[in-house]
Amino acid sequence: MKAYDGMYIGGAWRPAAGQDVIEVVNPADEQVIGTVPAGTAEDVDTAVRAARAALPEWAATPPAERAARLAALRDVLVARADEIAETVTAELGAPLKFSQAVHAAVPIAVAGSYAELAATYAFEEKTGNSVVHHEPVGVVAAITPWNYPLHQIVAKVAPALAAGCTIVVKPAEDTPLVARLFADAVHEAGIPAGVFNLVTGLGPVTGQALAEHPGVDLVSFTGSTAVGRHIAAIAAGQVKKVALELGGKSANVILPTADLAKAVNVGVANVMSNSGQTCSAWTRMLVHRDRYDEAVGLAAGAAAKYGERIGPVVNAKQQARVRGYIEKGVAEGARLVAGGPEAPREKGYFVSPTVFADVTEDMTIAQEEIFGPVLSILRYDDEEDALRIANGTVYGLAGAVWAGDEAEAVAFARRMETGQVDINGGRFNPLAPFGGYKQSGVGRELGVHGLAEYLQTKSLQF
Ligand code: NAD
Repeated sequence: MKAYDGMYIGGAWRPAAGQDVIEVVNPADEQVIGTVPAGTAEDVDTAVRAARAALPEWAATPPAERAARLAALRDVLVARADEIAETVTAELGAPLKFSQAVHAAVPIAVAGSYAELAATYAFEEKTGNSVVHHEPVGVVAAITPWNYPLHQIVAKVAPALAAGCTIVVKPAEDTPLVARLFADAVHEAGIPAGVFNLVTGLGPVTGQALAEHPGVDLVSFTGSTAVGRHIAAIAAGQVKKVALELGGKSANVILPTADLAKAVNVGVANVMSNSGQTCSAWTRMLVHRDRYDEAVGLAAGAAAKYGERIGPVVNAKQQARVRGYIEKGVAEGARLVAGGPEAPREKGYFVSPTVFADVTEDMTIAQEEIFGPVLSILRYDDEEDALRIANGTVYGLAGAVWAGDEAEAVAFARRMETGQVDINGGRFNPLAPFGGYKQSGVGRELGVHGLAEYLQTKSLQF
């Protein structure tokens, strides 16, 4: 157990204004592994002032130089990949292999993509008798969740810095250690003082103070829809820009012509990875009635195989919440075919990989985001029915379509109300825009569309 000290503000670790701390717990064994300072409005104010002071110079830094700093940052992340993976495993509980392959590797890819984009993006364009300049929005407040703790930070910091913005990050209270490691990486990469700042603390205190700060021009938030709505209301009151990456309840649509075994196996793996704590997870599997029983058997078998390989969920509250949803599924008449509400281990916040069959659209488990290793399998009669079910939630973050013919899958995907669709198991692309339709959010992250969120235009007429 280590008591970590200070906030990273203005290029150095500075003592926190208050004395309170947040305990960081390893969810695999429930041991306290460290404490970090719980930030106050005073810390937030110092950080925002530092970001504002650094803004003019960073905004005026040529994009090629900003690109060079981001490339240096990517290199530090590469050099520290093992430390990053171990830290995420300790505070989030993800199995080490998954931490290496995803939690450490994806931020490297994203930082690298923005190093390239900063160097190549057309920050100036001509249209008619005008020259349009794409200028940084200003000081960014980034408020991030714990589920992909470093990725969520880098998906905001890298485009913000590429655009010429400066930033204050408030990471989730469960996973502040990898955020501190990232601050050290920023320092090592030679990013000028004040361009990046980190304030750890509680959402309703530190996060709220940051969102409300008048020195912030854009609030970029990733987290639950409930908090997102609250942040959007604060931003609206101050006519401040806001970007929201919120919850999801994505559909995995298996059309009758699909390779069923592949679609089901990849679908189960998608839901169970990161212990189901993925906003874009395909938690509703939609199968045609003629192949339904076969799909249920395959899914139950695939989930049972996870056994000991799955990590815990992030904390005791999340474990209780997920188990509550499983109990609700049973109470509302869904049929458990794998897992269940009982904790599979005595220590650690583990939840059994769980699969429900006979789930109907109106059930709570078919509508609400569970954020745990729980899959619901729904039956459809025909394609129109599948589309209606797929689009029948308030969310629209992601999804998948499987069909024998790619064109058939694409035609279906084009009718889905959602921001991302994987066709026949298409791979994650760090350049593809990521973000939600409907209540899954406002704005896009990653790639060139993610960069555009941090830019505003100025037109000069000649
Ligand atoms: P959360 O909304 O509870 O917290 C997210 C962040 O907001 C944390 O840093 C928290 O401290 C802060 N916060 C909480 N209350 C606040 C307030 N009043 N003012 C300002 N900040 C506040 O979410 P979580 O439990 O950490 O994460 C899980 C949720 O995040 C899920 O709903 C998931 O779908 C969503 N998520 C979405 C995406 C996406 O890209 N769309 C990605 C990951 C997670």
